[in-house]
Amino acid sequence: MSAFNEERVLSVHHWTDRLFSFTTTRDAALRFSNGHFTMIGLRVDGKPLLRAYSIASANYEDHLEFLSIKVDDGPLTSRLQHIRVGDSIVVGRKPTGTLVVDYLLPGRRLYMLATGTGLAPFMSIVRDPATYEKFEHIVLVHGVRKVDELAYHDLLVEHLPSHEFLGDIVSSQLHYYPTVTREEYRHMGRITDLIESGKLCSDLCMPGLDPAEDRVMICGSPAMLRDLKHLLERRGFAEGNTSVPGDYVIERAFADQ
Ligand SMILES: Cc1cc2nc3c(=O)[nH]c(=O)nc-3n(C[C@H](O)[C@H](O)[C@H](O)COP(=O)(O)OP(=O)(O)OC[C@H]3O[C@@H](n4cnc5c(N)ncnc54)[C@H](O)[C@@H]3O)c2cc1C
Repeated sequence: MSAFNEERVLSVHHWTDRLFSFTTTRDAALRFSNGHFTMIGLRVDGKPLLRAYSIASANYEDHLEFLSIKVDDGPLTSRLQHIRVGDSIVVGRKPTGTLVVDYLLPGRRLYMLATGTGLAPFMSIVRDPATYEKFEHIVLVHGVRKVDELAYHDLLVEHLPSHEFLGDIVSSQLHYYPTVTREEYRHMGRITDLIESGKLCSDLCMPGLDPAEDRVMICGSPAMLRDLKHLLERRGFAEGNTSVPGDYVIERAFADQ
């Protein structure tokens, strides 16, 4: 059996000239945990050209959703950014990854810290009712450079809180904190600075990050992961992985080259 499914593009949404999202059909046999990534891509000259992508849709949905960067000279995304409804997408059958709530120890509050396309796995997790059963408060922090890069802002602020099934739990438990570094906005600054200064927690009316009660998931650039890892370890947080649950887990939103 092939390691890949061929899916069809169902919709495409361009957020900016650097960012887009799309949905595809989903093979009924594809299983994944919310927060997982898988290999996806296009056939180029008959061969699959693949990259790791977080799945932004929840695992109970009958379609798949992805949030993608557009890199002008990127082998995949220079092509992928031109996909249209009906086009074929190659999707790996073996989703995996560490951003899964089961890899965290029990806690009161779950912080999900994302920059850029690092938001994608958390869009899956915030749509999962099990997340709200495990944690009293879910904090989703999304850091971007410009306001129009706040993908899914309206879904998080308007549509999810009024969702037929998730609306009540989202309204009472989800705290969405968008922050922008290069334009004026209601929240500004880098995630590390907002945590170090205490501003994030004071804006949210929550106590400072504490491994006794808080759990953290991080997805961003390699530099952002490094900085936040140091910050958390200084505060006594222990990293979890797929075999040993911990106080925090991380995943790269992309690899440096
Ligand atoms: C575990 C994992 C999960 C990932 N999930 C996603 C995802 O959900 N969405 C997504 O768009 N990408 C994601 N990526 C990155 C993705 O695999 C590709 O790198 C990206 O699609 C660009 O592919 P490319 O062939 O066009 O360029 P590449 O040759 O892969 O990348 C070229 C350069 O572009 C920059 N870059 C690549 N991806 C990004 C990005 N997402 N944000 C900012 N800069 C980037 C890097 O500097 C990289 O060196 C993920 C990577 C990993 C390791």
